[in-house]
Amino acid sequence: MGVIGEPGVSSKQRTVRVACPHDCPDGCSMRVTVDNASGRAVKVEGDPTHPVTRGYLCSKVNHYLDLVYNDKRVLYPHRRVGPKGPEAKFQRIGWDEALGEIASNLKAVIAEHGAEAVQPFSYSGTLGMLGFFGMGERFFNKMGAARLERTICTAAGAAAEMHTFGRVGDANIEDLPDMEVVILWGTNLVSTGVHAMPFVNAARDNGARIIAIDPRVTRTTAFADWHIQPRPGTDAALALGMMKVIVDRGLHDVDFLERHTVGWEKLLNERLPEYTLEHVEAITGIPAADIEKLALLYGGSKQTFIRVNWGIQRRQRRPDDPGHQAAAGDHGGNARQGRGVHVDRRRNAPRGHAPVAGHPPARRPQTAHHQHDSARQRA
Ligand code: SF4
Repeated sequence: MGVIGEPGVSSKQRTVRVACPHDCPDGCSMRVTVDNASGRAVKVEGDPTHPVTRGYLCSKVNHYLDLVYNDKRVLYPHRRVGPKGPEAKFQRIGWDEALGEIASNLKAVIAEHGAEAVQPFSYSGTLGMLGFFGMGERFFNKMGAARLERTICTAAGAAAEMHTFGRVGDANIEDLPDMEVVILWGTNLVSTGVHAMPFVNAARDNGARIIAIDPRVTRTTAFADWHIQPRPGTDAALALGMMKVIVDRGLHDVDFLERHTVGWEKLLNERLPEYTLEHVEAITGIPAADIEKLALLYGGSKQTFIRVNWGIQRRQRRPDDPGHQAAAGDHGGNARQGRGVHVDRRRNAPRGHAPVAGHPPARRPQTAHHQHDSARQRA
């Protein structure tokens, strides 16, 4: 924090180091220059000392001050007057009046129907730590309000990840440069994960093969060495087909499976036989030869990294897909030291301690984004 004497900082300004408030896997560290006289932020930039942010922000947050000081922001409580809908009008009221009205409405509902008639709903966006998992959860827990998985974004993927890996951290993007094969599965990282790209580029410079799996054509599929285009919603079949090839060729790590997983024999004996190359080609539209080539490339490499994103979970029963990819990681024996599956940076394991199923993670010092999970558990 700081920091008269830093470049561009004078006695009239100070620089404050903060975490980006967005709920974003990049988890950037920001430097905000504040005018001392007015107390207003006058500049935001990426923290050059942060190992992932590396001095730049994304295009959303480069213009953050336009949002923060926009005169259309709602900064005060308002009460609707007249009907709901496009013709609705709002009248500014004072904080005491607003709080009193909300409290009396809550009390009336609780008196008539009980506290579970109150259903809180909120999500992250730009709320930051306190707004996301802070006082709101404590308040509603104390009240005894109805409970809800308050996410419209990640519940299915998070459930799949928890089901597959338990409470261990994701593989670390800082280990990407050591990889031989990088699979960007259902993620448009070039557009939406800009801070991971230097690590992917470093992997490529070191000889890694970069594979994008996505039904769409994106900037990331154009960037990749190989674009595999399954039909939408068929990712799980592709993962199962890959697993079958890996197992048929004896590339799976039985010792790892025995020591760290449950149910793998049932999967191998009862589920995988269905997923022949011909069957998976019929489901996914990917030629059998390509499915086999992909599986052998992945299963035959020692250093592999799958970057999954949330998009593939946003269909009916989608917890399957990230789960199957994670399981593909397991069966290749790849969910191990320095390699594995990465869904969300918030679950990162520290460098050198990529996910090992059944092992609790030793965590690196937490950023605000990492702290979301643990704060939530405490709330
Ligand atoms: S990439 Fe994500 S964490 Fe970084 S500045 Fe943009 S929204 Fe914030």
